[in-house]
Amino acid sequence: MLALQGDFEAHRRLLEELGAAVREVRVPADLDGLDGLVIPGGESTTMTLGIEREGLAGPLRELIGAGTPTLGTCAGLIMLDRDHLGLLEVTAARNAFGRQVRSFEERLDLDGVGDGIEAIFIRAPWATEPGADVEVLAAVDGHAVAVRQRDVLAVSFHPELNGERRLHGWLLQRIAARRAAAGPRPQATAGGSP
Ligand code: GLN
Repeated sequence: MLALQGDFEAHRRLLEELGAAVREVRVPADLDGLDGLVIPGGESTTMTLGIEREGLAGPLRELIGAGTPTLGTCAGLIMLDRDHLGLLEVTAARNAFGRQVRSFEERLDLDGVGDGIEAIFIRAPWATEPGADVEVLAAVDGHAVAVRQRDVLAVSFHPELNGERRLHGWLLQRIAARRAAAGPRPQATAGGSP
């Protein structure tokens, strides 16, 4: 969990309910050995400043660029786009649905994640100019609000606010699949060579 700012507590609870061990990331050393990452909603300018202040941009690019499964929600989608961390080939349009007036709910079907997802949008961005590797999973009024590029999933809404667990479930599945593909982890050997 990137925990510089925003509603990371609610994500943490959801992940723990699903059985994941969660670490809050505030400095680069917190990223060591992580199998997956969530970038929460919040305020993207504040989050950008925090990432710069803590020297997290390079280490985050390295971790996610290496294929670590990642879920970004709302401001998290903005952090991942080509104008910020550059890990997702989209350009986020901030507050694209308008500010307070356009906080709303919508039922969405996300290919490969789940159908009938009750999505809560709060001053939400949408994603424009998806690159060739980006799959648009759902749109509202023709605007992309859920996108996936390999193991990076980013959505404009807040699944953590209504206990919608399927996006976090997708993340944990991708982590498990990646582990399985990598084969067994090297065992720690005790007592030196035989
Ligand atoms: N509008 C916010 C921003 O641009 C994002 C909103 C959210 O994460 N709920 O930073």
